[in-house]
Amino acid sequence: MESNGCRELLALEREQNDRLRQLLSVDYVTGLPVRRKLGEVLRPRIADSNSLPFALAVVRLDERFRRRPMSSEMAGVLLYGVGQRLTERAPDRVYQSWRTDEYIVLVDDTVDTDVLAETSAAIREAIQRPFSSSGVNIRLGCHVGFAVFPEHGRTVPELLGNAEIALGIVEQREDSSGIYHADMGYRRRRQFAIEQEITDAIQSGLDQFSLAFQPIVDRTCAIHGAEALMRWDNDALGSVPPAEFIPVAEQYGQIQILGLWAVYQAATIARTWVGDDHLEPPVVSLNVSAVQLRDPDFAERIIDLFATASVPPGRFRLELTESAIVEDPERARETLETLRGFGVQLMIDDFGTGFSSFTYLHTLPIDTIKIAKEFVDTIVESSHSRAIVRSIIHVAKGIGGTALAEGIETLDQFDVLMEEGCDYFQGYLFGRPQVTNDLNTLVVASDAEFRR
Ligand code: C2E
Ligand code: MG
Ligand code: MG
Repeated sequence: MESNGCRELLALEREQNDRLRQLLSVDYVTGLPVRRKLGEVLRPRIADSNSLPFALAVVRLDERFRRRPMSSEMAGVLLYGVGQRLTERAPDRVYQSWRTDEYIVLVDDTVDTDVLAETSAAIREAIQRPFSSSGVNIRLGCHVGFAVFPEHGRTVPELLGNAEIALGIVEQREDSSGIYHADMGYRRRRQFAIEQEITDAIQSGLDQFSLAFQPIVDRTCAIHGAEALMRWDNDALGSVPPAEFIPVAEQYGQIQILGLWAVYQAATIARTWVGDDHLEPPVVSLNVSAVQLRDPDFAERIIDLFATASVPPGRFRLELTESAIVEDPERARETLETLRGFGVQLMIDDFGTGFSSFTYLHTLPIDTIKIAKEFVDTIVESSHSRAIVRSIIHVAKGIGGTALAEGIETLDQFDVLMEEGCDYFQGYLFGRPQVTNDLNTLVVASDAEFRR
């Protein structure tokens, strides 16, 4: 038999355990039930074969929250406020995710895509209403990813994992919301594998990467330069095209190091390239992504690398896309002017496919406009394409620069471009990109069809 004192002690312990369990069930910042509780709530429903379908929405605050400088106290107040707003809309159906800036909303008894779209609109509206704190209005935003039971998973972790995959894709696309789809899972896994392998490849000394060079010729078909294009051969993934790995490297912050590696590599290779007796040494084009231009020291780093490799900066031309410039035109202008000051040439890549704003052509020191392959593809059959190409060439010359056409595959395309007065030409017709250090292997064969 228990003594009185012993019984009291056990009761106290039981009470403390209950309180502890209670404390561990709610998030200490937002006061919302934690993710684990959602599992407990849904498990019986999932086990019941007659249960109605439901959807889970994962809601993550966007960069307006992450980037805003604020005290942790203020962050706590906002996170609590967001939780309250969501709960007003859906009482008892909002949970705290593992991340403090992420919430889970249970959408009951419906998986209709229209209803999910309405739900996402309502969630966003609730979060976007300004929060006021000490007389200041703070605006937040969010992205939403959905997964539906049973289509997208038969366990809570699987459903939440898939809703997070959808959310990740939504964030990348800078969209507002999206419902999980099996392709997304594949894409996300592939991106994850690429990200891991790039990290390893960088850490193990960048040997897996190489530069291919594609010739660029002038109107006499003599070599004028070459574009450096990155190649990546990985044991696990095989040869991954740059159109696939560059965006991943941009997203996960690896493009800075890869980009600088490409500059140094191109510079050491180009040092050995000299032109024929009467020709200028070839100009080497390097692609620069928007993320690289965000680095305030980008220009200095590049100039340093050219100096280390002992090659004059005037031998290089940077290829920038319109989106890279439009992202932060003021910073782009400063960086590009510094580079231009050292003699680096500048070119707009894929012109006509992006924003094509005349403002930056007017204010930036651009030397060359590269006509996008899209127009070259149809230039022979389409009078529209031809008219667009004609105007691009006109604009290039009007700003005192030159025009370069890329993706030329046929003699007919080349003929039309010659007639329109294009200055430089690049494409499979003249040579495919090749991994080589030897300029001579790029020099277009003298008996080639297009030489006349
Ligand atoms: P881009 O700069 O527009 O490069 C042109 C792409 O078209 C290259 O693809 C090239 O191999 C391909 N190409 C050239 N001539 C022809 C042709 O006649 N027909 C066809 N069908 N294609 C042709 P690639 O090498 O796969 O590169 C794709 C993109 O990846 C590049 O587009 C560029 O945006 C990016 N990229 C490549 N290397 C780098 C790099 O070192 N840094 C950065 N930031 N981006 C890079
Ligand atoms: Mg390019
Ligand atoms: Mg291009």
